[in-house]
Amino acid sequence: MIAAYYRAAGGDETLLIEKNEKLGKKLYITGKGRCNVTNACEPDAFLDNVATNPKFLKGAIYRFPPSDFIDFLGRKLKLKTERGNRVYPESDKASDVTKCLESYLHGVGAEISLNEKVLDVKTDGEKVTGVETDKRSIPCDNVIVCTGGISYPSTGSDGDGYVWAEKLGHTVVKPKPALCGINLKTVYPELQGISLKNVSIKAFEGDKKIYEDFGEMLFTHFGVSGPVILSASSYLNKRDVKNSKVTLDLKPAITEEQLDARILRDFEKYKNKLVKNSLDDLLLKAFIPVIIKNSGIDGNTKNSELKAQDRKKLVKAIKNFDLFLSSLINIDESIVTSGGISVGEIDPKTMESKKVRGLFFAGEIIDVDALTGGFNVTIAACTGYCAGNYLRRKE
Ligand SMILES: Cc1cc2nc3c(=O)[nH]c(=O)nc-3n(C[C@H](O)[C@H](O)[C@H](O)COP(=O)(O)OP(=O)(O)OC[C@H]3O[C@@H](n4cnc5c(N)ncnc54)[C@H](O)[C@@H]3O)c2cc1C
Repeated sequence: MIAAYYRAAGGDETLLIEKNEKLGKKLYITGKGRCNVTNACEPDAFLDNVATNPKFLKGAIYRFPPSDFIDFLGRKLKLKTERGNRVYPESDKASDVTKCLESYLHGVGAEISLNEKVLDVKTDGEKVTGVETDKRSIPCDNVIVCTGGISYPSTGSDGDGYVWAEKLGHTVVKPKPALCGINLKTVYPELQGISLKNVSIKAFEGDKKIYEDFGEMLFTHFGVSGPVILSASSYLNKRDVKNSKVTLDLKPAITEEQLDARILRDFEKYKNKLVKNSLDDLLLKAFIPVIIKNSGIDGNTKNSELKAQDRKKLVKAIKNFDLFLSSLINIDESIVTSGGISVGEIDPKTMESKKVRGLFFAGEIIDVDALTGGFNVTIAACTGYCAGNYLRRKE
């Protein structure tokens, strides 16, 4: 939509083809129906949140930074900024973002064809000559392919663009789930539904630390999910997941020594009780048997009789709760797709293919993805801007 707007703004004939009955079906479900449309941060901070190929995106995000996107939307839509610089429509309605973009498109006379499916992009071997749809053949010199990734395919993004690109000689980096939950080798049914607010996590592949974060997470029926886990998944997806683990620190605000002292104080308070009945002030009830089991100590020992070395084991189990991973959840249910058109084959200034003249890519179809916070919609916006604006100037 952004690509079509900028191209049409120059007065050139522009046709946006969408196979769904309406525009922006995926936008409707973003940000839990509220659409976290962008992040009010500087381009450098933006790039810190890009998990895959931030270097490629540098030119695009400087050309169309979040501040420009906010100005652009803000001319037609009231916005508000929440925690973590997350920008939403003031109405909390994702549909208002789509309405705003549609209004821009109508304003510049871009033609929109709904319920029309592109089947193929035609070339003469060197440059684009047209597109084939389920309704007609359309001759044209330039095509911007914005078909998205393959996550949540019911919204329309089911990978069509990858097929055309591959046929035209592009490399498609294998699509992988990103921003998704993680299946565990051992699930914890007794912890299911528990959400931890202030947990520190470290993700390891073998012994190598590949990611760390602090925030919220959730135990689920399949394993773990929630903000810090979603972020970790965007780095774990490039690793051998089966050989990886996520280590939780359930008491990140205090050191091992401080935790040991805290346990001793609690043992004093619950004098003569068993260890398993002395930890209620420190841990959520459901965690107590799990932590005791993980530490290898006997929870039925009287707390006054627990040896210092066993207390240390307890401390370690609380500060190093290892979750062994089996796989990331299915890509259909991942928030974004990592992988896609290889960035080495796209001009980062214009988004034009280096293989076929007149062929452009924008949005999630490109092998670029970011963490949560409004970054992914903005990636679509800034790459769409680069392609659309370049085509406006070119002709
Ligand atoms: C549940 C969920 C929540 C999210 N929340 C956020 C959020 O709050 N903030 C954020 O920044 N990102 C969020 N994202 C990610 C964000 O929605 C995507 O990264 C973004 O929509 C990608 O935009 P796009 O235009 O590249 O692709 P899409 O939005 O997927 O659009 C691709 C379009 O191409 C159409 N299409 C595909 N094939 C054809 C064809 N053959 N012919 C014609 N049309 C075709 C599709 O129907 C679709 O409308 C969320 C994603 C999900 C799934």
